[in-house]
Amino acid sequence: MASVSAAPSAAGDDTTAAPPPPGAAPLSATPLSATLIGAPLLSVEDLHAGAESAAGEGEILRGVSLEVGRGELHVLMGPNGSGKSTLAGVLLGSPVYKVRSGRICFLGEDITDWAPDARAKAGIFLAFQYPEEIPGVPISQFLRQAVAARRGSEVSVLEVRVQLREWLSRLGMDPSFSGGEKKRNEILQMALLEPELAVLDETDSGLDIDGLRIVAQGVQLVREARPGLGIVVVTHYAKLLELLVPSRVHILMGGRIVESGGPELAARVERDGYEAWR
Ligand code: ADP
Ligand code: MG
Repeated sequence: MASVSAAPSAAGDDTTAAPPPPGAAPLSATPLSATLIGAPLLSVEDLHAGAESAAGEGEILRGVSLEVGRGELHVLMGPNGSGKSTLAGVLLGSPVYKVRSGRICFLGEDITDWAPDARAKAGIFLAFQYPEEIPGVPISQFLRQAVAARRGSEVSVLEVRVQLREWLSRLGMDPSFSGGEKKRNEILQMALLEPELAVLDETDSGLDIDGLRIVAQGVQLVREARPGLGIVVVTHYAKLLELLVPSRVHILMGGRIVESGGPELAARVERDGYEAWR
Protein backbone atom coordinates (compact mmCIF):
# COMPACT_ATOMS: atom_id res chain seq x y z
CA MET A 1 0.00 0.00 0.00
CA ALA A 2 1.22 3.46 -0.79
CA SER A 3 2.26 5.56 2.13
CA VAL A 4 1.17 9.11 2.74
CA SER A 5 3.36 11.84 4.01
CA ALA A 6 1.77 15.05 5.23
CA ALA A 7 4.93 17.03 4.66
CA PRO A 8 6.29 17.25 1.12
CA SER A 9 9.72 15.64 0.88
CA ALA A 10 12.69 17.92 0.69
CA ALA A 11 13.60 16.76 -2.81
CA GLY A 12 13.29 19.69 -5.13
CA ASP A 13 9.72 20.92 -4.84
CA ASP A 14 10.83 24.43 -4.11
CA THR A 15 11.32 25.24 -7.76
CA THR A 16 7.65 24.97 -8.70
CA ALA A 17 5.74 25.43 -5.45
CA ALA A 18 4.77 28.97 -4.62
CA PRO A 19 5.62 29.95 -1.06
CA PRO A 20 2.58 29.74 1.21
CA PRO A 21 0.89 33.06 1.97
CA PRO A 22 1.93 34.57 5.29
CA GLY A 23 0.07 33.04 8.18
CA ALA A 24 -1.26 30.14 6.13
CA ALA A 25 -1.87 27.00 8.14
CA PRO A 26 0.28 24.08 7.02
CA LEU A 27 -2.84 22.03 6.41
CA SER A 28 -3.10 22.41 2.68
CA ALA A 29 0.32 21.00 1.89
CA THR A 30 -0.21 18.92 -1.22
CA PRO A 31 1.73 15.85 -2.27
CA LEU A 32 4.93 16.60 -4.11
CA SER A 33 3.91 14.86 -7.32
CA ALA A 34 0.83 17.05 -7.75
CA THR A 35 2.86 20.20 -7.32
CA LEU A 36 5.19 19.01 -10.03
CA ILE A 37 2.82 17.77 -12.67
CA GLY A 38 -0.27 19.90 -12.01
CA ALA A 39 -2.51 16.86 -11.72
CA PRO A 40 -6.23 17.36 -11.21
CA LEU A 41 -7.54 17.13 -7.69
CA LEU A 42 -9.51 13.97 -8.37
CA SER A 43 -9.45 11.75 -11.38
CA VAL A 44 -11.59 8.63 -11.57
CA GLU A 45 -10.71 6.41 -14.50
CA ASP A 46 -13.01 3.73 -15.86
CA LEU A 47 -13.90 2.52 -12.39
CA HIS A 48 -15.60 -0.84 -12.00
CA ALA A 49 -16.64 -1.80 -8.48
CA GLY A 50 -19.02 -4.04 -6.62
CA ALA A 51 -19.90 -5.11 -3.11
CA GLU A 52 -17.00 -6.76 -1.31
CA SER A 53 -19.31 -9.58 -0.21
CA ALA A 54 -20.52 -10.50 -3.70
CA ALA A 55 -17.26 -11.86 -5.11
CA GLY A 56 -16.94 -11.50 -8.86
CA GLU A 57 -20.59 -10.80 -9.58
CA GLY A 58 -22.99 -7.96 -9.17
CA GLU A 59 -20.93 -5.12 -10.50
CA ILE A 60 -22.47 -1.85 -9.27
CA LEU A 61 -20.18 0.70 -10.91
CA ARG A 62 -19.64 -0.23 -14.54
CA GLY A 63 -17.06 2.14 -15.89
CA VAL A 64 -17.24 5.52 -14.17
CA SER A 65 -14.89 8.29 -15.24
CA LEU A 66 -14.88 11.67 -13.56
CA GLU A 67 -12.47 14.55 -13.13
CA VAL A 68 -12.76 17.19 -10.44
CA GLY A 69 -10.49 20.23 -10.42
CA ARG A 70 -9.56 22.51 -7.56
CA GLY A 71 -12.39 24.74 -6.43
CA GLU A 72 -14.98 22.84 -8.44
CA LEU A 73 -18.31 21.62 -7.16
CA HIS A 74 -19.58 18.51 -8.90
CA VAL A 75 -23.04 17.11 -8.38
CA LEU A 76 -23.99 13.48 -8.90
CA MET A 77 -27.65 12.81 -9.55
CA GLY A 78 -29.51 9.67 -10.53
CA PRO A 79 -32.46 7.48 -9.58
CA ASN A 80 -32.40 5.17 -6.59
CA GLY A 81 -30.05 2.25 -7.01
CA SER A 82 -27.99 3.86 -9.76
CA GLY A 83 -24.77 3.60 -7.72
CA LYS A 84 -24.34 7.09 -6.27
CA SER A 85 -23.68 6.00 -2.70
CA THR A 86 -21.45 3.22 -3.97
CA LEU A 87 -19.33 5.75 -5.85
CA ALA A 88 -19.14 7.99 -2.77
CA GLY A 89 -18.18 4.97 -0.65
CA VAL A 90 -15.51 3.83 -3.09
CA LEU A 91 -14.00 7.33 -3.20
CA LEU A 92 -13.70 7.29 0.57
CA GLY A 93 -12.24 3.77 0.62
CA SER A 94 -15.20 2.09 2.28
CA PRO A 95 -14.41 -1.58 3.00
CA VAL A 96 -17.95 -2.46 1.93
CA TYR A 97 -16.95 -2.13 -1.73
CA LYS A 98 -14.26 -3.62 -3.87
CA VAL A 99 -12.71 -1.97 -6.90
CA ARG A 100 -12.48 -4.55 -9.70
CA SER A 101 -10.70 -2.40 -12.27
CA GLY A 102 -9.96 1.20 -13.10
CA ARG A 103 -8.38 3.64 -10.68
CA ILE A 104 -8.81 6.66 -8.47
CA CYS A 105 -6.11 9.32 -8.51
CA PHE A 106 -5.93 12.11 -5.97
CA LEU A 107 -3.51 14.92 -6.78
CA GLY A 108 -1.75 12.65 -9.22
CA GLU A 109 -1.30 9.71 -6.86
CA ASP A 110 -3.08 6.43 -7.38
CA ILE A 111 -5.07 6.00 -4.15
CA THR A 112 -7.26 3.13 -5.35
CA ASP A 113 -5.90 0.80 -2.66
CA TRP A 114 -5.42 3.32 0.12
CA ALA A 115 -7.18 2.82 3.45
CA PRO A 116 -9.72 5.47 4.51
CA ASP A 117 -7.43 6.97 7.15
CA ALA A 118 -4.62 7.44 4.64
CA ARG A 119 -7.07 9.21 2.33
CA ALA A 120 -8.25 11.41 5.19
CA LYS A 121 -4.72 12.34 6.09
CA ALA A 122 -3.97 13.22 2.48
CA GLY A 123 -6.94 15.59 2.47
CA ILE A 124 -10.06 13.72 1.48
CA PHE A 125 -12.91 14.55 3.79
CA LEU A 126 -14.61 11.71 5.60
CA ALA A 127 -17.63 12.66 7.67
CA PHE A 128 -17.72 11.08 11.08
CA GLN A 129 -21.06 10.44 12.63
CA TYR A 130 -20.83 11.84 16.10
CA PRO A 131 -21.41 12.49 18.91
CA GLU A 132 -23.95 9.68 19.08
CA GLU A 133 -21.41 6.99 18.26
CA ILE A 134 -18.70 8.01 20.68
CA PRO A 135 -20.33 8.44 24.08
CA GLY A 136 -18.18 10.14 26.68
CA VAL A 137 -15.74 11.78 24.27
CA PRO A 138 -16.11 15.55 24.30
CA ILE A 139 -16.53 17.07 20.83
CA SER A 140 -13.54 19.35 21.13
CA GLN A 141 -11.37 16.41 22.13
CA PHE A 142 -12.64 14.34 19.23
CA LEU A 143 -12.09 17.16 16.76
CA ARG A 144 -8.64 17.87 18.16
CA GLN A 145 -7.62 14.31 17.39
CA ALA A 146 -9.15 14.43 13.92
CA VAL A 147 -7.40 17.71 13.10
CA ALA A 148 -4.10 16.37 14.49
CA ALA A 149 -4.43 13.25 12.33
CA ARG A 150 -5.06 15.39 9.28
CA ARG A 151 -2.12 17.69 10.01
CA GLY A 152 0.23 14.98 11.13
CA SER A 153 1.18 17.02 14.19
CA GLU A 154 -0.27 17.89 17.56
CA VAL A 155 -2.79 20.68 17.88
CA SER A 156 -3.50 22.51 21.10
CA VAL A 157 -6.91 22.24 22.67
CA LEU A 158 -7.01 26.01 22.78
CA GLU A 159 -6.44 26.35 19.06
CA VAL A 160 -9.20 23.88 18.28
CA ARG A 161 -11.55 25.65 20.70
CA VAL A 162 -10.89 29.00 19.06
CA GLN A 163 -11.53 27.62 15.57
CA LEU A 164 -14.50 25.63 16.77
CA ARG A 165 -16.09 28.71 18.30
CA GLU A 166 -15.49 30.75 15.17
CA TRP A 167 -17.02 28.12 12.86
CA LEU A 168 -19.93 27.45 15.23
CA SER A 169 -20.86 31.08 14.99
CA ARG A 170 -20.36 31.28 11.22
CA LEU A 171 -22.54 28.22 10.72
CA GLY A 172 -25.18 29.50 13.11
CA MET A 173 -24.78 26.51 15.39
CA ASP A 174 -25.70 26.23 19.01
CA PRO A 175 -22.43 25.97 20.97
CA SER A 176 -24.15 23.53 23.32
CA PHE A 177 -24.13 21.17 20.34
CA SER A 178 -27.47 19.62 21.13
CA GLY A 179 -29.03 16.90 18.98
CA GLY A 180 -30.59 17.34 15.56
CA GLU A 181 -27.54 19.11 14.20
CA LYS A 182 -26.00 16.21 12.35
CA LYS A 183 -25.84 18.01 9.04
CA ARG A 184 -24.26 21.07 10.55
CA ASN A 185 -21.83 18.82 12.36
CA GLU A 186 -20.76 17.38 9.05
CA ILE A 187 -20.15 20.83 7.60
CA LEU A 188 -18.38 21.85 10.80
CA GLN A 189 -15.98 18.94 10.49
CA MET A 190 -15.36 19.85 6.88
CA ALA A 191 -14.53 23.41 7.93
CA LEU A 192 -12.15 22.36 10.69
CA LEU A 193 -10.36 19.57 8.86
CA GLU A 194 -9.61 21.80 5.87
CA PRO A 195 -9.70 18.99 3.30
CA GLU A 196 -8.68 19.32 -0.34
CA LEU A 197 -11.66 17.25 -1.46
CA ALA A 198 -14.99 16.60 0.23
CA VAL A 199 -17.48 13.93 -0.81
CA LEU A 200 -20.94 14.49 0.65
CA ASP A 201 -23.70 11.97 0.15
CA GLU A 202 -26.95 13.76 0.87
CA THR A 203 -29.18 11.22 -0.83
CA ASP A 204 -30.53 9.33 2.13
CA SER A 205 -30.31 11.95 4.80
CA GLY A 206 -34.01 12.78 4.69
CA LEU A 207 -33.40 16.50 4.63
CA ASP A 208 -36.27 18.94 4.82
CA ILE A 209 -35.95 22.31 3.16
CA ASP A 210 -34.37 23.84 6.25
CA GLY A 211 -31.84 21.03 6.37
CA LEU A 212 -31.04 21.59 2.70
CA ARG A 213 -30.50 25.26 3.32
CA ILE A 214 -28.16 24.47 6.20
CA VAL A 215 -26.10 22.18 4.02
CA ALA A 216 -26.06 24.57 1.06
CA GLN A 217 -25.19 27.66 3.08
CA GLY A 218 -22.59 25.79 5.10
CA VAL A 219 -20.93 24.36 2.01
CA GLN A 220 -20.93 27.82 0.44
CA LEU A 221 -19.31 29.40 3.51
CA VAL A 222 -16.60 26.77 3.61
CA ARG A 223 -15.96 27.19 -0.12
CA GLU A 224 -15.55 30.92 0.33
CA ALA A 225 -13.04 30.34 3.11
CA ARG A 226 -11.20 27.72 1.03
CA PRO A 227 -11.54 28.53 -2.67
CA GLY A 228 -9.41 25.54 -3.71
CA LEU A 229 -11.66 22.99 -2.06
CA GLY A 230 -13.17 20.49 -4.50
CA ILE A 231 -16.55 19.05 -3.60
CA VAL A 232 -18.58 16.13 -4.90
CA VAL A 233 -22.17 16.24 -3.68
CA VAL A 234 -24.51 13.33 -4.20
CA THR A 235 -28.10 14.48 -4.13
CA HIS A 236 -31.48 13.92 -5.63
CA TYR A 237 -32.71 17.26 -4.44
CA ALA A 238 -32.65 19.63 -7.40
CA LYS A 239 -33.60 22.26 -4.83
CA LEU A 240 -30.13 22.06 -3.34
CA LEU A 241 -28.78 23.26 -6.66
CA GLU A 242 -30.84 26.41 -6.58
CA LEU A 243 -28.91 27.28 -3.45
CA LEU A 244 -25.52 25.99 -4.51
CA VAL A 245 -24.38 26.52 -8.10
CA PRO A 246 -22.45 23.50 -9.38
CA SER A 247 -19.55 23.53 -11.82
CA ARG A 248 -20.74 20.24 -13.32
CA VAL A 249 -23.75 17.96 -12.98
CA HIS A 250 -23.48 14.25 -13.76
CA ILE A 251 -26.31 11.79 -14.26
CA LEU A 252 -25.56 8.29 -13.02
CA MET A 253 -27.70 5.43 -14.38
CA GLY A 254 -27.02 1.75 -13.92
CA GLY A 255 -23.52 2.38 -12.62
CA ARG A 256 -22.44 4.66 -15.47
CA ILE A 257 -22.34 8.40 -15.99
CA VAL A 258 -24.73 8.77 -18.91
CA GLU A 259 -24.61 12.54 -19.23
CA SER A 260 -22.65 15.47 -17.83
CA GLY A 261 -23.47 19.12 -18.15
CA GLY A 262 -23.89 22.43 -16.38
CA PRO A 263 -26.53 23.52 -13.87
CA GLU A 264 -29.21 23.32 -16.59
CA LEU A 265 -28.95 19.54 -16.45
CA ALA A 266 -30.25 19.57 -12.87
CA ALA A 267 -33.14 21.78 -13.97
CA ARG A 268 -33.94 19.29 -16.72
CA VAL A 269 -34.00 16.41 -14.22
CA GLU A 270 -36.29 18.42 -11.96
CA ARG A 271 -38.66 19.00 -14.89
CA ASP A 272 -38.56 15.68 -16.76
CA GLY A 273 -37.11 13.12 -14.35
CA TYR A 274 -34.72 10.44 -15.59
CA GLU A 275 -36.94 8.99 -18.33
CA ALA A 276 -34.80 10.35 -21.14
CA TRP A 277 -31.85 8.18 -20.04
CA ARG A 278 -33.66 4.93 -19.32
P1 ADP B 1 -27.91 4.97 -4.96
O1 ADP B 1 -27.10 5.60 -3.88
O2 ADP B 1 -27.74 5.61 -6.30
O3 ADP B 1 -29.36 4.87 -4.60
P2 ADP B 1 -26.43 2.58 -4.28
O4 ADP B 1 -25.04 2.87 -4.63
O5 ADP B 1 -26.81 2.64 -2.86
O6 ADP B 1 -27.40 3.48 -5.17
O7 ADP B 1 -26.80 1.12 -4.81
C1 ADP B 1 -26.62 0.74 -6.16
C2 ADP B 1 -26.96 -0.71 -6.32
O8 ADP B 1 -26.00 -1.52 -5.64
C3 ADP B 1 -28.31 -1.10 -5.74
O9 ADP B 1 -28.89 -2.06 -6.60
C4 ADP B 1 -27.95 -1.69 -4.41
O10 ADP B 1 -28.90 -2.68 -4.04
C5 ADP B 1 -26.61 -2.33 -4.68
N1 ADP B 1 -25.77 -2.33 -3.47
C6 ADP B 1 -25.33 -1.24 -2.80
N2 ADP B 1 -24.57 -1.58 -1.74
C7 ADP B 1 -24.53 -2.93 -1.74
C8 ADP B 1 -23.91 -3.92 -0.89
N3 ADP B 1 -23.18 -3.55 0.17
N4 ADP B 1 -24.11 -5.22 -1.21
C9 ADP B 1 -24.83 -5.59 -2.28
N5 ADP B 1 -25.43 -4.71 -3.10
C10 ADP B 1 -25.30 -3.42 -2.85
MG1 MG C 1 -27.63 6.40 -2.03
